[in-house]
Amino acid sequence: MKKPKFIVENVAILSLTPLVALIGVPWYGIVSGYTLFEWSMFFVFLMSTGLAITAGYHRLWSHRTYKAHAIIRVFYALFGAASLQNSILHWSADHRNHHRYVDDLTKDPYSAKRGFWFSHIGWILRAYPSGKHDIAELKDLQRDPIVRWQHRWYIPLAIFMNLGLPLFLGYLHNRLWGTFFLAGILRMVLNHHFTFFINSLAHMWGSQSFSTDNSARDNGFLAIFTYGEGYHNFHHRFQSDYRNGIAWYHYDPAKWLIRTLSWIGLADGLKTMSPFQIEKAKILVQREKALRNLEKNNTLAHLQQSLEEKYHQAIQALEAWSAASQEWQQKMRAKVEKGSKALADLHMKERYQEMKLNFQNHMVEWKRLCAQLSTVAA
Ligand SMILES: [Zn+2]
Ligand SMILES: [Zn+2]
Repeated sequence: MKKPKFIVENVAILSLTPLVALIGVPWYGIVSGYTLFEWSMFFVFLMSTGLAITAGYHRLWSHRTYKAHAIIRVFYALFGAASLQNSILHWSADHRNHHRYVDDLTKDPYSAKRGFWFSHIGWILRAYPSGKHDIAELKDLQRDPIVRWQHRWYIPLAIFMNLGLPLFLGYLHNRLWGTFFLAGILRMVLNHHFTFFINSLAHMWGSQSFSTDNSARDNGFLAIFTYGEGYHNFHHRFQSDYRNGIAWYHYDPAKWLIRTLSWIGLADGLKTMSPFQIEKAKILVQREKALRNLEKNNTLAHLQQSLEEKYHQAIQALEAWSAASQEWQQKMRAKVEKGSKALADLHMKERYQEMKLNFQNHMVEWKRLCAQLSTVAA
């Protein structure tokens, strides 16, 4: 396959900025030092560009997992331009193709199957294989005037956010270059590679608890650098959920930002998968792994029937719990609609709790069997 041509601007930016970050930034630090203000601006720019990409480009526009107020969309559009990762339209076109054709060697724009270098940065250095990004297809995003505005003025906005704003802040601080070196250059290089990790490492390193259909992985350590996007296996399985890290203790600042915005009325329509769908996905993957372990070691064949029985019992218990939950919620809604302050029937609540406990008991047995299979097979 003939490789597409290099894009000179991209090669220049992605090689010169790291050089300046490696040589210019420490050199300026030795000669003039950096102030607390300059380090604060570095941190503010790092988080703002990171969240503009993850909470904005990714979860708002590419996947439409929630709706955001215009003021927030303008913020994402500005700091998205500052991150120098293309316009919202280009980025989202590539990202939707990444999900649609994940791991395909030609159709996934940053297929991890083509190795670390390609999925991390190599794909950006060369022209797009089809010659253009499919932005015409993104009718839903083209309706947003802020998206159209950012696409039209992307280059002036990127120059202003990376050069004009840091220099202006430096001028106000009476030290022209310090803010530019830290909040402009060093921040840009770190932000580039932190977000590139999502396409490379988050498809190579970590666990697959929700799906084994593609290479996406969950990795809590990577989440620290990727503004919460390290929980990438969950994300590829449930891309319409506004969260990537679903547990409260999962480090996912994009999720916390979106939730906070919804509390203060600047975001709404936050989409989440039900805990039952999530549990079911996990059980399916556990079963798949258990069956693979059975295949590995034929002395375990006698456990096959037990595995199938326990699997069906767990799924049935999960469905009964889900049905009890729906019944209870319906009852609650009906009572609220009638204006009654009374809570749903105690009976419903008790049934819900009983079904939940029943499911948890089945899960203990199910997990014990899966663990037994994996230790013996290993
Ligand atoms: Zn995505
Ligand atoms: Zn991915």
